[in-house]
Amino acid sequence: RQYRHGEASEVVVNIPDGQIVFGEHHPLVVVAGPCSVENEAMIVETAQRVKAAGAKFLRGGAYKPRTSPYAFQGHGESALELLAKAREVSGLGIITEVMDAAELDKIAEIADVIQVGARNMQNFSLLKKVGAQSKPVLLKRGMAATIEDWLMAAEYILAAGNPSVILCERGIRTFDRQHTRNTLDLSVVPVLRKLTHLPIMIDPSHGTGWSEFVPAMAMAAIAAGTDSLMIEVHPNPTKALSDGPQSLTPERFDHLMQELAVIGKAV
Ligand code: PEP
Ligand code: MN
Repeated sequence: RQYRHGEASEVVVNIPDGQIVFGEHHPLVVVAGPCSVENEAMIVETAQRVKAAGAKFLRGGAYKPRTSPYAFQGHGESALELLAKAREVSGLGIITEVMDAAELDKIAEIADVIQVGARNMQNFSLLKKVGAQSKPVLLKRGMAATIEDWLMAAEYILAAGNPSVILCERGIRTFDRQHTRNTLDLSVVPVLRKLTHLPIMIDPSHGTGWSEFVPAMAMAAIAAGTDSLMIEVHPNPTKALSDGPQSLTPERFDHLMQELAVIGKAV
């Protein structure tokens, strides 16, 4: 779809705390939270701590796309209820993933932004369905998707009638699995800026796979001009049911937010 001059080049989301805008001419929006919603205490604590540090959205998976069918799959519907509770106590917006169109309606009831994960980036029937509802969509880049593949996936959502799509780079498949989980492709920031009006998010947590590398890549993403960041945060990463090694503690996240405020777009 051709971008029409004067068309909004931003995604506006109303969260309990007010209106948040993702876009080039707006402050950086930080999304933080655990990989998975594990229990009420951890999601509420994480929400309060990332909120205090300056995040605007809480992330957390209820339905998890895991490589192994024997790995923790997420608590499903009961996790959605916990996210609703965390939203209420913190005032943060909620971002959570939809894996199956059968769950879309109940996810849309509590989520402020619906995530389509890397593994579903080209699930065209799911893209059509998230495009036919009105909640904004966070579309993660498939791990082996070209930029053209990714933009065409976004196009499915736009073509179905939903103009609110945020593009999230989360790293592409790497040949060096020893030191990084993926290769975070920060070149997409200027490239997407040239090709599309859609807002850009960078996820250095999945992008690197290791918490110690997350701060450097978060700062690099801001230097490149990203509109938003997604950072995994867990109150006790060594005990996390998924993605502990790449999760920051709330203390480390707070410190990172202070560093980010110094280098770029106001947080
Ligand atoms: C996630 O954000 O929890 C996730 C599963 O990410 P991705 O789809 O990028 O692997
Ligand atoms: Mn994760």
